[in-house]
Amino acid sequence: MEGVDTLVLIKGLALAAWLALLFVLERLRPMVLRPDGDRGRAGLSRLARNGGLWLANTALSPLVVVPVSVWAAGLTTWRPEAWSGGWAIAVDVLILDAWIYWWHRANHEIAFLWRFHEVHHLDRFLDTTSAVRFHFGEVLLGAAVRLPVIVALDIPWASILVFETLVLVSALFHHSNLRLPPRLERALARVVVTPSIHWVHHHRVRRDTDSNYATVLSIWDPLFGSRSRTARWPAMPIGVEGREERGLLGLFARPFEAEPQAAGGGSEPLGRPDGSA
Ligand SMILES: [Zn+2]
Repeated sequence: MEGVDTLVLIKGLALAAWLALLFVLERLRPMVLRPDGDRGRAGLSRLARNGGLWLANTALSPLVVVPVSVWAAGLTTWRPEAWSGGWAIAVDVLILDAWIYWWHRANHEIAFLWRFHEVHHLDRFLDTTSAVRFHFGEVLLGAAVRLPVIVALDIPWASILVFETLVLVSALFHHSNLRLPPRLERALARVVVTPSIHWVHHHRVRRDTDSNYATVLSIWDPLFGSRSRTARWPAMPIGVEGREERGLLGLFARPFEAEPQAAGGGSEPLGRPDGSA
């Protein structure tokens, strides 16, 4: 495990640097200027909420997720020697990226999973910190559903590590409030998920929330018929239709409540001012 620990540490430091860079850049070149409701104390408590959820996940990763993934990666050893190296890692990443497309989609379509995933979507604004805001239950379930794929395809630990790094690099980028030159964003969006694609997934209109599920490569939504036709606009309301943000303890408790409130019927105007979305 010593080599694994070192690589996981390097991955953690690299991702922390990427988060810090995007966090600064999105404040220098924001796509959306924060409204009064997300400045000062309100803005700080939002960061504390997202940070609190992230801390729980960070604690779980070395305790549960990493050891279980390493264990699963070592369970089967049928993969021939020729199926290794760079191209094999690329194929593994492609398979895992398609897998988490369906996992993410299941989180929206299966009510039990949505109880956990809604915690991510209740954020009323988006920036890099939204990318690490997940309920620990979703993190554990996500690690568990990945195990059969790892075992069945004999996916090596190296591929998992590369994939996890790409997922976080991509998630931090596509949640960020960074304003990119439109031509650059359009070019990137042909290959990877950009903020213009993923922000629509956080649009406070359920039809758009249930679209644009891809994480790293942008091809999966057009391929599986889940790409939204809505184009992002700066004042797009973010969140979950008919539901409100909660405090940190309320977010932790959300999946375990007996009677989740029914979705639907937001109290504020949704969609574009002209009603076209
Ligand atoms: Zn989602």
